[in-house]
Amino acid sequence: MNILVLNCGSSSVKFQIIETDLDLIEKNFDKRLASGIIERVGSQSLITLQADGKQKLKQATALRDHRAAIDYILRWIISPNANIANIISLADIHAVGHRVVHGAEKFTKSVLIDDEVIEGIEDCIELAPLHNPANVKGINVARELLGTGIPQVAVFDTAFHSTMPETSYLYALPYQLYRRYKIRRYGFHGTSHRYVAYRYRQLLKIEREQTNIITIHLGNGCSACAIKNGNSVDTSMGMTPLEGLVMGTRSGDIDPSISYFIHHKEGLSFDELGVMFNKQSGLLGVSGLTNDMRELIDEETEHQDRRATLAIDMFCLRVKKYIGAYLAELGGSDAIVFTGGIGENSAIIRERICNGLEFFGLTIDKNRNGEMFGGKEGEISVANSKLKAFVIPTNEELLIARDTVRTVKNVPRRW
Ligand code: AMP
Repeated sequence: MNILVLNCGSSSVKFQIIETDLDLIEKNFDKRLASGIIERVGSQSLITLQADGKQKLKQATALRDHRAAIDYILRWIISPNANIANIISLADIHAVGHRVVHGAEKFTKSVLIDDEVIEGIEDCIELAPLHNPANVKGINVARELLGTGIPQVAVFDTAFHSTMPETSYLYALPYQLYRRYKIRRYGFHGTSHRYVAYRYRQLLKIEREQTNIITIHLGNGCSACAIKNGNSVDTSMGMTPLEGLVMGTRSGDIDPSISYFIHHKEGLSFDELGVMFNKQSGLLGVSGLTNDMRELIDEETEHQDRRATLAIDMFCLRVKKYIGAYLAELGGSDAIVFTGGIGENSAIIRERICNGLEFFGLTIDKNRNGEMFGGKEGEISVANSKLKAFVIPTNEELLIARDTVRTVKNVPRRW
């Protein structure tokens, strides 16, 4: 089957076309046919499109909304210009898989989309006002443009974490707030943590139930996940993606009193505080320079910028603290697995995080660590390390495509 994977953000649409099916999944033979991204939807949009094995196309044109953006993608997909293997008309798209950020307590696994599911995703908008509206738009537009005859599946960022026990997911707030408003930790990046855990067990040829690891997704957004017997039992992001690790522009954990302190001192409204914690904090806020880890590392090495170093050190320390906490919570773990743009590519950040973890039995192999970037996958600890470390590139789109096939064919997933 050719699956169109759609990831609609508030002002962007990312897509991939992936050829996959039950037998291809089994053999790991599924393959990407095309990919692209439209940024700045709603104004002069930047468009990047690529059929696999062909040259990347970059264009700019005004696309006024998500409908116009998805329509543009569909027209390109079937154009002779794109020349995508096996795709001649829209009938060659057999199903659509949507990334949906928040599934709350309602959606604990991927589901076939119908009117009731759309209503359910709309009900979650209150919990993810920045993300779910765009996801719903993407679903409605795809249904309109492709017709309701093409099955569509929603894959939720929160679903993998639905196995957390209430001791992990509840906040120590008055309990009635959970009852009344479902205020609790949901966790995000679930598709990434799940994919990485799945690849880990494939690499080690072990069963799902034998998977006891800590996965660390370090990209522009960052989160850690404690996985026991294959299930997420704790994760660092909370009711929203703001909690936990230091991120590109998000603060991660802070004392909640800071919000009303700043509110009184600077007169910021709660909405403005939300913008500050989400968009002006983290690596950007501390360094005063950038949210981009590569640029910070350059500033540190070339100009010895003190605040670039401070931001990087705070970033690494926070990850280290979560690793320590999760090792205690899990009663030990077999491996730490790094993924995401920073986790997959930056040997220096991985080394700084793992420095000092020898106490837990982790020794990094500097050579192996240094060689792991640009999509490579494998172990980065020394052969006899008691606690191992791995780099496994994430592939959320592939997992969404695979879930789409399994959901359409009604085959229960093993992850
Ligand atoms: P993502 O959100 O997963 O695309 O990750 C984006 C982050 O990965 C940005 O902060 C990038 O600077 C960072 N990144 C990508 N490549 C490298 C690299 N070679 N070294 C350090 N950071 C990197």
